[in-house]
Amino acid sequence: MVWITTPTTTRRMRRVRPVDTKPEIAVRKVAHELGFRFRLHRRDLPGNPDLVFPKLRAIVLVHGCFWHHHARCRRGTMPKRNVDLWRTKFARNVLRDAVVWRQLREAGWRVLVVWECETADRGALRVKLRSFLSKGDRP
Ligand SMILES: [Zn+2]
Repeated sequence: MVWITTPTTTRRMRRVRPVDTKPEIAVRKVAHELGFRFRLHRRDLPGNPDLVFPKLRAIVLVHGCFWHHHARCRRGTMPKRNVDLWRTKFARNVLRDAVVWRQLREAGWRVLVVWECETADRGALRVKLRSFLSKGDRP
C-alpha cells in the first residue's frame, strides 16, 4: 500500500519523533514553576519518558492527541485518506503506550499522562501536576 499525503498529513508525519514539542515545553515550564526537579527523556527507562522525577519515583508522559490517538478528543482525529494505514498505526501507538506504561509501573514508577489538549489551560495543568507530584513523598 502507498501513502497518499496531503500537506497536513506530511506535516504531521514529520513529527513522528517529537522532541521538545509545545505541549511538552508547557508541562516542563509548569513543573519547574512548581519547584520540582526533573530529568528529560531518560534513555535507560522504557519509552524514554518525557519528564522523570527521580526522587519522587514519578514520571510524566506528555502525549500528542493526534499521534497517541486521544479518544473522544477533537485532535485525536482519523485522517480521511489511508484510513486502514492510520488505523494500524494508531493501534500500534496505543498498544506501545500501554506496554510502556505497564513496564514503568512494574519498575515501581508512578505514571501520569498529560494530553496535549490539557496543556492549553495552564491553571488546570498546574493543579493536575501539583496534585500528582505532591503525592511523591507517600508510598
Ligand atoms: Zn486530546
